[in-house]
Amino acid sequence: MRSLAPVAPVAVASSIASASASAPRAASSARSSRPTLPPSRRIAALGHRAARRGSSRHLAASASDESASPYYSEDAAGPEDVDSLLELYLAKASSSAAASERPAFSDAGKVYLVGTGPGDPGLLTLKAFHLMQTADVVLYDRLVSPAILDLVHDGAHMLYVGKQAGFHTRTQDEIERMLLGFAEKGASVVRLKGGDPLVFGRGGEEMETLMNRGYAVQIVPGITAAAGVGSELGIPLTHRGAATSVRLLTGHLREGAAREAEEGVGNAVADPVAFAVTSADVDTTLVVYMGLGTLPLLAEKLIESGFPEDMPAVAVERGTTRRERRVFGTVEALPEAVKKRGLESPTLIIVGNTVKLSPWWPWRDEAGEPASPAVGSEAFAPEAFQEGPPGEDTEAWFASDGRAATRLRALSERAAGEATRETSGNARASANPPGSNGGKNEPVAS
Ligand code: SAH
Repeated sequence: MRSLAPVAPVAVASSIASASASAPRAASSARSSRPTLPPSRRIAALGHRAARRGSSRHLAASASDESASPYYSEDAAGPEDVDSLLELYLAKASSSAAASERPAFSDAGKVYLVGTGPGDPGLLTLKAFHLMQTADVVLYDRLVSPAILDLVHDGAHMLYVGKQAGFHTRTQDEIERMLLGFAEKGASVVRLKGGDPLVFGRGGEEMETLMNRGYAVQIVPGITAAAGVGSELGIPLTHRGAATSVRLLTGHLREGAAREAEEGVGNAVADPVAFAVTSADVDTTLVVYMGLGTLPLLAEKLIESGFPEDMPAVAVERGTTRRERRVFGTVEALPEAVKKRGLESPTLIIVGNTVKLSPWWPWRDEAGEPASPAVGSEAFAPEAFQEGPPGEDTEAWFASDGRAATRLRALSERAAGEATRETSGNARASANPPGSNGGKNEPVAS
């Protein structure tokens, strides 16, 4: 097993805050008469396995003076420049390989961009799980939850490339150079990305860079936040009679987008709120990623453009995880309610008639049908706050009965063993020459 000396530990939050998962608080007497609400559950505080087994395999590749990770709270230090980091990694990898008399890498250089879904490890694909069991190097950022990182095999070198308080933020360029650097040396590199790698995740840019250099790159889809968070809350993104389409929007555009739009390169619309409003209609569910900062403006503009003030909406922080918090409300009330509750990134915002179909929608009429909070009684507040995930807790399954995880691991190890036997004897080039895909079937740029 290869392991790194504790060069730059990235500590994992030692415990996951306990959250009391309660069923939606009754906001009306009508609602409390409904028989089939999801049961109340209490989520116990859980120590985190990665923290317990130590974080010596984690290398900090990054940090920032901006937003801290929602999952990683302690500072880390590590080589600032990519070349030193690569050198360090390679020296460690070859010395541990020499000690174990095994080749330094188990695969020809290849990069996998792997979607990990919104946070619940139960929403990982088997393909993602398998790659997490076989990777040489794993790069991950702030959206990948500790429960998911726990499923990476112990021999992988873990590299944090997200933002971290007080340190330099890895630029996209540096991350791409790292991916290339490791792949060039023949490592099997898994880049974990929250949700789906190609939905607002800049996975497309990483894919292009690698393909342009002739590297095999494989994309593993993940459940994007809209689908994961929406479905788990029982919000059908499309629904006959409520929404005939769904739009995935960003509330935030990267730096330089406005200039590019003016110059006629890049996106045509530089202002994401303006775009959201022009694309909005009452039969469309709007799902806004990275929308906390622009939520007040978005709500205002939607109403100005003719959206009903009581259009149902929800903001969900850390959806599908034990630390989920959410605020339901009218589109008009949501910005203030989100501010009051202090929701932080990552938060997903969903606006549309489909939101009130959720079993967690708090307001009901006398017949138990979803209603607008403005209708009925003066006592209705137009917002309702809830904590705890609405779904079954996969982490608890794994914690109480490890059979599923063990069986998955065994299957994955067997498959990896077979793959190694098949490729043994093949020359192990230190890099795939540009234009070659290393004999594999993945697409490469010509
Ligand atoms: N590739 C990701 C999106 C990355 S953009 C995907 O497909 O889901 C980051 C934004 O995604 C966050 O600001 C937030 O709006 C949303 N997001 C991702 N995971 C989330 C989660 N678990 N809960 C709420 N929002 C989430």
